[in-house]
Amino acid sequence: MTQNAIEIRDLKKTYRGSKGEPEKHALKGINLDIPAGSIFGLLGPNGAGKSTMINIMAGLVTKTSGTVRIWGFDQDENPRQSRAAIGVMPQELNLDPFFSPHGALEVQAGLYGVPKSQRRSDEILAMVGLSDKANAYARTLSGGMRRRLLLGKALVHSPRVLVLDEPTAGVDIELRQMLWTNIRKLNKEQGMTIILTTHYLEEAEEMCDEIAIINHGELVARDSTANLLGKMDAKCMVIDPVTPPAQLPAADGVEVTQRPDGTLALAYHASQTTAEDVLRAVRDAGIAIRDVKTEQADLEDVFLTLTRGH
Ligand code: ADP
Ligand code: MG
Repeated sequence: MTQNAIEIRDLKKTYRGSKGEPEKHALKGINLDIPAGSIFGLLGPNGAGKSTMINIMAGLVTKTSGTVRIWGFDQDENPRQSRAAIGVMPQELNLDPFFSPHGALEVQAGLYGVPKSQRRSDEILAMVGLSDKANAYARTLSGGMRRRLLLGKALVHSPRVLVLDEPTAGVDIELRQMLWTNIRKLNKEQGMTIILTTHYLEEAEEMCDEIAIINHGELVARDSTANLLGKMDAKCMVIDPVTPPAQLPAADGVEVTQRPDGTLALAYHASQTTAEDVLRAVRDAGIAIRDVKTEQADLEDVFLTLTRGH
């Protein structure tokens, strides 16, 4: 039993530029430990390097330098064991159209050398809710079904570590619920370590014990979800005034900007200022409110906060 499911040291990836484009430093020396048994979130905006990192772990992309240990096995020294320890649900819906769901799971099990007697194709199909589609043509599967099948494929060899790359990007609420229920169950009942990427902050908040944030190929934060969210309390209240304000609201800890559409954006930190304080400042400035809404900090804001001054 190892303490860390994943140990990454000074991991670098440089993509060669095509057609005169400069080379791309997608990962610039990442060091990261992911504890065994956790649900771990890897967050970052588009292009941050999340998929690159995951695909390196999965053995789908070759790293430029550095070391990756999966369940204690160095990827270069013990490629077979390290590969057996990890299952990956990729971001792309790349499925072979010639296999039924059952067939696809059997082929995948074959690729991983799972003996026929130990295959669990029917059990996995039931788990991802595809039993009634077991022998259907792949082309008759909806996008959501394909995604569920990809999850099933990642599980055929009963990996210790399950990696999900943007599992809920663009999926409906029902499928999202189903994915999360399954993932929680695998984590609780089998102790499977789960690593997922997402750019939905709320999802990470709800699901993950610990979070790493990467931006431009560098780790900018690594903490428990609770600690990290404490740092992410930036909020913004947007006021639509009945008439153009004669004076702008002013209050400690509130940054006011007038937007081109005539609304006022009042940025504040929920840990320091309450919504009531902000509203009072608006009323004190003699502003009548036609409409009000609040905007949560999104990841962009969080990055700005976390990378400010770096
Ligand atoms: P993320 O998953 O966080 O959105 P990626 O790992 O897909 O980020 O991409 C990181 C960076 O590497 C991006 O700038 C992307 O354009 C670049 N990149 C990804 N794959 C390739 C590739 N095969 N060839 C060249 N550049 C790539
Ligand atoms: Mg990606």
